[in-house]
Amino acid sequence: FFCFFEQTLLLMLLLLLAAFEIQDRSISTFTFDGHLSFEDDDDDAVRAAAAEDFGRRCRRMPSAVLYPESVSDVSKMVKYVYGLGSASELAVAARGRGHSLQGQAQAHNGVVIDMQSLRLPGMIFHLGGGGGGPWVEVSGGELWINVLHRSRKHGLAPRSWTDYLHLSVGGTLSNGGISGQAFLHGPQIDNVHRLQVVTETENKDLFEAVLGGLGQFGIITRARIALEPAPRKVKWIRALYSDFSTFTADQEALISSENDAFDYVEGFVIINRTGLLNNWRSSFNPRDPVLAEEFTSEGKILYCLEVAKYFSQEDSDHSVDQEVETLLSGLNYIKSTLFISEVSYVDFLDRVHFSEMKLREKGLWDLPHPWLNLLIPRKSIHTFAQEAFGSIVKETTSGPVLIYPVNKSRWRNQTSFVTPEEDIFYMVAFLSSAVPSSNGSDSLENILARNKRILALSSSHNLGIKQYLPHYSTREEWETHFGTKWDVFRRRKMAYDPLAILAPGQRIFQKGH
Ligand code: FAD
Repeated sequence: FFCFFEQTLLLMLLLLLAAFEIQDRSISTFTFDGHLSFEDDDDDAVRAAAAEDFGRRCRRMPSAVLYPESVSDVSKMVKYVYGLGSASELAVAARGRGHSLQGQAQAHNGVVIDMQSLRLPGMIFHLGGGGGGPWVEVSGGELWINVLHRSRKHGLAPRSWTDYLHLSVGGTLSNGGISGQAFLHGPQIDNVHRLQVVTETENKDLFEAVLGGLGQFGIITRARIALEPAPRKVKWIRALYSDFSTFTADQEALISSENDAFDYVEGFVIINRTGLLNNWRSSFNPRDPVLAEEFTSEGKILYCLEVAKYFSQEDSDHSVDQEVETLLSGLNYIKSTLFISEVSYVDFLDRVHFSEMKLREKGLWDLPHPWLNLLIPRKSIHTFAQEAFGSIVKETTSGPVLIYPVNKSRWRNQTSFVTPEEDIFYMVAFLSSAVPSSNGSDSLENILARNKRILALSSSHNLGIKQYLPHYSTREEWETHFGTKWDVFRRRKMAYDPLAILAPGQRIFQKGH
């Protein structure tokens, strides 16, 4: 079965494929428009690749990898595994870019569906007019970087992003998709009008279930994504703070401003970094070079505000500069540390890819990534910061620590996404890479021990912190994570994937249990 969902604007269309007898037939007798790579008939490299992910800490070998070229390929596979019933342990994981951290897109002895091969029938654009804004419909396996390039040909672009664009649409929509635009437009899951989902069953709230649903309810084969006019250029600005309260007060003021806001608000913590401003100089210009020269960061914990203002070709340089000046004028950063850069919109959005290429050259990209992402309510951010930045992560040098607030009012409550219970909450991301030969602060062991301390802190004192891209080992922990949403999440699982064949790598539900 596969079905189309539309809610508000979403029209549901259920297409029934002819049921086929599968229990007594081997999957190898099926014909696919794409290709199925089995343990027996292909070299192990294909399955080995599907057993890896960006985290490089978890490796589960599948029995087969399907490269679908049509929705019916995905549907056939889901139907087949369902037909085996609960006696079989075979499960199915959709894999987008495989940039999960702990095996979430893996299926031990199961089937991995490599969604990147599902490109048919290309992207469909609606340029606006006739009611409703512009949108694009893309395959669930499409990478966001391709969505950006294709949309720009029409002068358009999606509104809400992740920091890194070489991720799949289905993968980020299964999680949330949060970046510096989320305060204004909400996460990516709230900028989707319609989904096509392959599932074993159908119901009107499947659309909401799938968004942020950790791959538990169906496989996203198409998504209709809201677009806006694409800016041409970006003023990209960084400035430092030494006082945490001043830093967060400015961030919160920026995300709360109704008009004339920046288009992107993020920030990061700087711990133990010497010569910091010198590093920035390769891509940013100091507003006051002499004062910037005198600033020394050694040994201090600093907080960097990172904001961006988009502009189009029609905007004059003067008017953009004036607007930026006005927006900056109310802020209380250390005046000598204001750095501004002007880059193309694409270079701005694709900025992490530039870092990726540099790290790849040095052999520092394919390392274990014991990342930890937390959503922290505003009321707890000071307690958290004092403990975490003040003592726990003092030694850490590798990888950024992001921190920025978002407005909960931009998050729809019906999706599966779990937010803290406060109007403003912070995304805090510890994005460390473990250096294998290191036995010091950057060793995997050390970073994991640090993460454990941060998680212990998070669950103490009723801080109300939630994990983003969550990972837990027990059902109790998942129940606690979902909190008041657990009953709905479980009900939806029973409705849409009662045998628990989907996304076993999330380890929430187990087939046959
Ligand atoms: P995968 O790892 O392939 O899959 C993730 C989960 O979704 C799995 O459970 C999988 O089974 C399921 N899934 C995949 N495709 C589908 C589908 N079509 N239908 C149903 N389920 C599916 N996240 C942010 O929010 N903001 C950021 O700024 C951000 N930056 C990042 C930067 C880097 C360098 C990396 C590596 C990750 C970043 N992430 C960020 C996290 C990222 O959004 C998630 O890891 C996401 O899952 C990656 O997408 P993917 O295509 O690799 O998904």
